[in-house]
Amino acid sequence: MTRTPRTASALLALLVVGAGLAAREVLPAGVAGPVGDGLYAVLVVLLVALVRPRTTPVVAGTVALVVCVAIELSHLTPYPAAVLERLPQARYVLGTTFVATDLAWYALGAAVGSVLLAVVTPHARAVDQSLRHLRATGDGRRRPRVLPLVLVLLLVAGGAIGWFLWSEQQDLTAKIDVAQTAYDASADKVADDAVRTRLDAAIVAGETVLDGRPMLDRLPGDATDARERLERELAAVHESRVAFALAQADEAREALVPVRRRAETVLAATEELRAAGQGADEAVSSELRTSLDTADDVLESATADGLEEAGLTQLEDAVASLVVGRRNLDRATTDLMTAQDAVVCPEPDQVWFPQAGKLADSRLAPLPWAPEHSVRADVLDDLVELNDAYRAHFGQDLTVNSAYRSYAQQVAVYDPENPNPLAAPPGCSNHGLGTAVDISVGPEGFDSARYAWLKDNAEQFGWTHPDWAEPDGRLPEPWHWQSVKTPVEY
Ligand SMILES: [Zn+2]
Repeated sequence: MTRTPRTASALLALLVVGAGLAAREVLPAGVAGPVGDGLYAVLVVLLVALVRPRTTPVVAGTVALVVCVAIELSHLTPYPAAVLERLPQARYVLGTTFVATDLAWYALGAAVGSVLLAVVTPHARAVDQSLRHLRATGDGRRRPRVLPLVLVLLLVAGGAIGWFLWSEQQDLTAKIDVAQTAYDASADKVADDAVRTRLDAAIVAGETVLDGRPMLDRLPGDATDARERLERELAAVHESRVAFALAQADEAREALVPVRRRAETVLAATEELRAAGQGADEAVSSELRTSLDTADDVLESATADGLEEAGLTQLEDAVASLVVGRRNLDRATTDLMTAQDAVVCPEPDQVWFPQAGKLADSRLAPLPWAPEHSVRADVLDDLVELNDAYRAHFGQDLTVNSAYRSYAQQVAVYDPENPNPLAAPPGCSNHGLGTAVDISVGPEGFDSARYAWLKDNAEQFGWTHPDWAEPDGRLPEPWHWQSVKTPVEY
C-alpha cells in the first residue's frame, strides 16, 4: 500500500481553498456554485489523506462523498440552521440549504479528488523519499515536522480568508463612492426615477454591510454580493440616463426647427430691405448669420442616429449645445427684428414684421359679406361672429373699408411726406398680417352709436381697439380694430 506524504496533501488542500475563493470572486454565480461544491469534495478527499496518509484514493474519495452527502442531507434537519445562527462563519463549511443537485457536484468532486490523489501520490512519494534520504545522511533527524507545517498552513489559509475579506471590503467601499456620485449627478436626468430609488437602496444596503459587522465577523462574499447589487443598479441608472438624454435631444432638435425657420424668414426680409436702402445694422445681421451657422453645425453633429451611438457625456453635451444654440438664435433674431424696426417703423407702437403684406393666399380668407376684403384665415370666425351680433343690433353688416393689405398696397397707401400719415410704413402695419380691419362708424366717429357698441361688444369676440387709435392716442382712428390673437406666426 502506498502512502501519500502529508506535505503534498496539505499543499494541495491549500491550493484548493485558494481556488474556491478565487472561483467565488471571478466566476458568474451560476458557475461558481457547482465549482465550489466540487472543490469542497476535493478538499475533503485531501483532508482524509492528510489525516490518514495510507488511505487509498478510492477509499478517501468514498469517505469524502459520504461526508459531503451527510452534510448536505443534514440541512433537512433543523441542526445546521441552529449552528449557523450562533456561528455564521460555519456557512463556509456547512453550506446554508439543501439542494439536491449539489449531490451530483459532490460526487464529481470526490471522483476528481481520488484521481488527483492517485496521480500525485507516486510523484510526491518519490520527492519525499529523496528528502528523507538527504536528512538521514545529513543531520540524522528522521521525523518530518508535521505540527509546525500544519500551523503554517492554517496561518496561510487564515491570511487568505482575511485578505479576501479585506479586499472585498475595499472594493465595496470604492463602489459605494462611485454609486453616491452617480446618484447625486443623476437627479432629474433619468427617464425613470425608480432606478435612482433602487440605487439609493443598494447604497444603504452596502453601508449596512460595512457598518453592521466588524470585518472578521462578516461572511466572505457578503461585501461582494452588496457590490454586485450596486453594479447592477448603477448600470440601470446609466441606461435610464441615456434614454432620458436621447428623448431630450429629440425635443431640443424639434424645438430648434421653428426658431431656425423664423430666423431665416427675418434674415431674408431684412436682406430685401437692405437692397432697397433700408437695411438694419449690418453687425446685427451678421450676428444672426453666425448663430444660424452654429445652429446648423449643432443640428448636423447631433443627428438622432449619431447620438444613438454616442456616450452619455457626449449625448448630454449635445443636448446642452442644442438648447444653447436655440436660445442664441432666438435672441439674435429678436435683436435683428428690433434693429430693423428702428430703421423702418418710426413709431414705438408700430412693430416691424418680416411677413407683413407677404402672407400666402392660402393663409387668407375673404369676408363672406364683403369678399373683396380678406383677413387671416384663423381670425375669420371671430369676425363673422362679431358681424352677426352687429347685424342683429343695427340691421346691417359691418362696413369694412380695408382689411388685409399686401406689401404693394401698403406702399401705395403710405405717404412718408404726410406728417400725420394715416397708414403705417410698409412692414409695420398689422393690416399686412391680416389681423386688422377698418370699420366705418359714420361721420360722428368716436361719438357714434356704432363706435360705442363696438367698444362695448368687440372684446367678447376677440377684437379690440388699440391704444394708439384711441381719442387721446398718437393717431385717433375710431375705425381701426384688430384681433387679439398672436399678430404673426413665422
Ligand atoms: Zn387700420
